[in-house]
Amino acid sequence: MGKPGKGGKGKGDKGGKGVKGKGKGKGKGKGKDGKGKGKGKGGKGPAKVIIEPHRMEGIFIAKGRDDSLVTKNMAPGVSVYGEKRITGDSGEGEKTEYRVWNPFRSKLGALIVGGIDTMPIRPGSKVLYLGAASGTTVSHVSDMVGPEGMVYAVEFSHRSGRDLTNMAKKRPNVVPIIEDARQPLKYRMLVGSVDVIFADVAQPDQARIVTLNAHMFLKNGGWFIISIKANCVDSTAKPEAVYASEINKLKLEKCKPKEQLTLEPYHRDHAVVTGIYRPLKKKKEA
Ligand code: SAM
Repeated sequence: MGKPGKGGKGKGDKGGKGVKGKGKGKGKGKGKDGKGKGKGKGGKGPAKVIIEPHRMEGIFIAKGRDDSLVTKNMAPGVSVYGEKRITGDSGEGEKTEYRVWNPFRSKLGALIVGGIDTMPIRPGSKVLYLGAASGTTVSHVSDMVGPEGMVYAVEFSHRSGRDLTNMAKKRPNVVPIIEDARQPLKYRMLVGSVDVIFADVAQPDQARIVTLNAHMFLKNGGWFIISIKANCVDSTAKPEAVYASEINKLKLEKCKPKEQLTLEPYHRDHAVVTGIYRPLKKKKEA
């Protein structure tokens, strides 16, 4: 996967009870910018390679000297941010186009390469994505959820929102929403109940932004995934202390953490926490 080294297990941050801590890999290896050689970059014709399914649904691996994470292109023939496109053969002569996903440019990509256990975003999922920017990661989420799924992508910067909106024109499963994620009432008519909230807003009040949106849109038993940029919350505290404090805020609002992963070597001093909103009680067997 560009092979800078997996995020790696170990150094579980003390995020609180019931949170699996992983992360802080050393990051040895080649291809640290995640860029691969070969044809098919940007507008050029896609290169042909062997594609294997990843253990997570909706994600694939392009085999090569350096394996890369790829998603099935929902808009064949189009790159979103200059990423390489490749054609895979299913073995039955059917050709499918994939896009290379660079974990250095995406917290979600880094989370997958880093070895998160459970990925709640899968084909058919309805996802509320907070902090969509120009749509780099949103486009891969759009590929992951496929034609049966939906991505509601919230971004408050009008400049980034323009690129996001243009990208969504070619992807019927992306609804761009140019609003402040602190005001979910403003977009409640566009978003129904969702299975997953993904948040990458890099704001000091990011935990509050997630819980506000969870109370309004996330179904009971649905998942949240939050990227926490430590120095955005408190630049004077140790990152581990910041992660623990953010996790406590989530717990107070019925968001039960399940896994925690630091994103090194892809993103410094970032952690991602995944968990379940209002977990459903297991039925007792009669
Ligand atoms: N997730 C993006 C990706 O992987 O391509 C990168 C997101 S960037 C780190 C954070 C984004 O969140 C910025 O584009 C910023 O404008 C947006 N943002 C920050 N606060 C926001 C808010 N309150 N509402 C909506 N968007 C916000």
